[in-house]
Amino acid sequence: MTQSTKEKSKNGEVKPTSPNSDLKLDFDSFWEYSEAPESSDHIQLKEKYDLFINGEFVAGNKGRMMNTINPATEKTIAEFTEATSEDIDLAVKSARRAYEKTWSKLTGKERGKYIYRLARMIQEHAKDLAIIESMDGGKPIRESRDVDVPLAAAYFFYYAGWADKLDYAFPGRKAEPVGVCGQIIPWNFPLLMLSWKIAPALAAGNTVVLKPAETTPLTALKFAEICQDAGLPDGVVNIVTGAGPTGAAIVDHPDVDKIAFTGSTEVGKIIQKSLAGSKKKFTLELGGKGPNIIFEDAPIDQAVEGIINSIFFNQGHVCCAGSRLLVQEGIADKLIKKLKERMETLIVGDPLDKNTDIGAINSKKQYEKINEYLKIGVDEGATIHQNSKELPENGYFCKPTIFTDAGQSNRIVQEEIFGPVLTIQTFRTPDEAIDKANNTPFGLASGIWTDKGSKIFKVSQKIRSGVVWANTYNKFDPTSPFGGYKESGMGREGGLHGLYPYVNLK
Ligand code: NAP
Ligand code: MG
Repeated sequence: MTQSTKEKSKNGEVKPTSPNSDLKLDFDSFWEYSEAPESSDHIQLKEKYDLFINGEFVAGNKGRMMNTINPATEKTIAEFTEATSEDIDLAVKSARRAYEKTWSKLTGKERGKYIYRLARMIQEHAKDLAIIESMDGGKPIRESRDVDVPLAAAYFFYYAGWADKLDYAFPGRKAEPVGVCGQIIPWNFPLLMLSWKIAPALAAGNTVVLKPAETTPLTALKFAEICQDAGLPDGVVNIVTGAGPTGAAIVDHPDVDKIAFTGSTEVGKIIQKSLAGSKKKFTLELGGKGPNIIFEDAPIDQAVEGIINSIFFNQGHVCCAGSRLLVQEGIADKLIKKLKERMETLIVGDPLDKNTDIGAINSKKQYEKINEYLKIGVDEGATIHQNSKELPENGYFCKPTIFTDAGQSNRIVQEEIFGPVLTIQTFRTPDEAIDKANNTPFGLASGIWTDKGSKIFKVSQKIRSGVVWANTYNKFDPTSPFGGYKESGMGREGGLHGLYPYVNLK
């Protein structure tokens, strides 16, 4: 082991160095990492993707194509088909046929075997799926490799287990499948949201037509290939690509029995209106503006890491992000100082680099929206603090940003920005923290940091949000339900609760 000694630098500053002259340690660049990009050379993507209907890839009826780009390079990765309402009709018919002829006729045990197979095949393809997710959506490979893909497999494993145990899930009741499910998902967790939708639907005996977001269709199309390789009966899973109108065609199709939507509150409201009065069941998983509450007795260094993780990793593209920090006055200065120092160390850059903390913003549209909110925040009188490092020249990148002096009625506090932007407010008493936490139109997720278990119970019971994390943030498990209060949506996904929307109980 080398022992460090001290030597004087030119400006008189004392710097530690190694006694071995060949092993001089440069402490100024201690936190700079060498590049460690994941190779994407072996990734096999088609130039052009058709729709996945009835177990095969078929061209869209109008032949209209769209591009998906890599937001870190702004280069096109692949073309995909824009499905029309005629294509959706074909997909729904295929799902109906599969529902009536095969899938609903299988025993739960047989369905479970297929779902386990899908779970295992996601694991087998984990590396490629993670790389494709990062290329298509801009999220750091560390996140797609360690969170998105393993969790997607875990949700399939979990719901595979329920397929032959539905009688135990709903004791004394008979659970029957709903039929054909239309499922529409966003771009922030493409494969993971697919698993939240498809796994419980199939376990309960339904068939599906799923549309991924237009900026991130590739892992869903890769999943379609996995369904083929797994020998899943034709038509049980149909993947249709396109933009908003394609999603609307699924929602409006008269032979769909249930709609599962995850996305913005704005589109959720449109969908709820068009479903009003129809026979369709629905669940809506919408936006959020998560309060993360730090009490004076919290473990500060852990809280700082928790805050960084809750808002900056994955570019703040997280519906349950802790985008509003509420900190008790006595520790506010100390905590904000530590937070700014930690923010300064964050690495923004190539999503495929394993050292990257903050990757690319998913699309130009989202990039512009975040920048617009930065301007709004400054105009509203909040004080802006940003990481000082240069951003990459190409691609859509945003600096991690903190706004102090933010007021409760400010738009940056009330509206979902969906980017690496944290607002900070202070409070004096637990009641003031609860009032501030509840004072937005959303209620998806929140965090509480304190040394006192009693405070966790007292405060969490008064916070109107579907999830309350205590002394941690953004932790997921397939057995645990997830969903929102107020404008964050209706219905739950995950756990036993996630099966309810996919069954009719007799
Ligand atoms: P979005 O714009 O609402 O889009 C979601 C999906 O709906 C996309 O596939 C989109 O297609 C499609 N769509 C657009 N207009 C439609 C219409 N009129 N009818 C039917 N479908 C339509 O949301 P996003 O920007 O992709 O995702 C970010 C939002 O998702 C955030 O608000 C976030 O909070 C929320 N989210 C919530 C949860 C949760 O569990 N609560 C989880 C993840 C994300 P295009 O992509 O082609 O526009
Ligand atoms: Mg893309």
